[in-house]
Formats: sequence, C-alpha cells, structure tokens
Amino acid sequence: MRLILLGPPGAGKGTQARRLVERHGIVQLSTGDMLRAAVKAGTPVGRKAKDIMERGELCPDDLVCAIVADRIEEPDAAHGFILDGFPRTVPQAEALEQTLEAKGLKLDAVIELKVDEEKLLHRIEKRIAETKARGESVRADDNAEALKKRLHAYRVQTAPLIEYYAKKGSLRTLNGMASIPEVGRAIDAILAR
Ligand code: AMP
Repeated sequence: MRLILLGPPGAGKGTQARRLVERHGIVQLSTGDMLRAAVKAGTPVGRKAKDIMERGELCPDDLVCAIVADRIEEPDAAHGFILDGFPRTVPQAEALEQTLEAKGLKLDAVIELKVDEEKLLHRIEKRIAETKARGESVRADDNAEALKKRLHAYRVQTAPLIEYYAKKGSLRTLNGMASIPEVGRAIDAILAR
C-alpha cells in the first residue's frame, strides 16, 4: 500500500500515519522527521535545512526529493509506505511520480485531511502545551510566527496539489476536524474499497 497524506500543519497527518503503520505494517515516511533528524545529526542536508525549517519555509525541492528517493529504496519500504508531509509542491509530486514509475510502482490513494484553518491554530497551540506538559522539548518551528509561515506555505505551495491529484482521480477528501478514531475509520473505509 502506498499512500500520501495531505493537509496543513496540525491536520493530524502524523497521528493518522502512525496509526496506519500499526494496522498495516507499512512505514511512515515523514520528510519533516527525516529533516529534523538530519538537523540534529548536523549532516550537510541538516545544515542546509536548519534555518529554513526554523523560519517555517519549505526546503528546496531537489534536497527533499533526493531524501525521499533514497528512503523508498530501503528494504522496510518494500511493502509500502505512507508519505507524511511529502510531496508539498507540484514539482515534488512530479518527481515522486517519476521515481515510482521507474520502479514500476503506483500510489493507491492520496488522502486529504480537510481542516478549518481558524480552529487549526488552536489545535496546534494545544499540541504545544501538551508536549510541554509531558516535559518534552517543543519543535523549533512550533511558534506563532513560524506557524503563520507554515500555513502560508501550505496555502500557496501545497494546496495546488489537491487539484493536481483530483485531476488524476486519486484524491480522497476527509473531514480532518472529526475525532482521531473517526478520521481513522474514514481512512480505513477508503483503503477497504
Ligand atoms: P513537518 O514536520 O512536515 O511539518 O515539516 C517541518 C518542516 O520541514 C517544514 O516546515 C519544512 O521546512 C520542512 N519540510 C518537511 N517536508 C518538506 C517537503 N516535502 N518540502 C519542503 N520542505 C519540507
């Protein structure tokens, strides 16, 4: 199974991806997680990405596409994967298509988690407060200024993918404001079709 989860920051992509990992034994490929790991490890990719990420802007397409193309080659991705946070631009979607085509692979579905933007900021603030309450450190880009930029980047650079995948007939849109189990059940229903 090969899926894309599409939606703005705070839509619940990561939560649903982790649930799918448990249920279907496929891997979650989160470019955000991969980039944060690279920043932490101080790799050349991490050094290029650090400031861009902290500002809430998107990293260059070629950098992100190369990471994903390499990651898909790993043995644990052979049974399938959920892309969480990738693609985020039309050129990334085109590059992904080429990468998959070269391997004779196809996407099963692109699932959009549609959310109410006004409620989104509240949801993200709650996530930050919960993380702090657990005594964990908060992401460098989880602050009001970077969040605004991340939402703007979504609207301008990522939202066109909705039309892109709708035209290809692979888009499935869900209400991302429903509860976590409800969204999970809706995803399962799509995958069972
Ligand atoms: P995320 O954890 O998905 O919210 O991603 C955190 C940050 O990593 C984003 O704000 C971007 O700076 C960077 N990033 C993650 N995925 C991508 C991508 N597909 N394209 C460009 N930048 C990305």
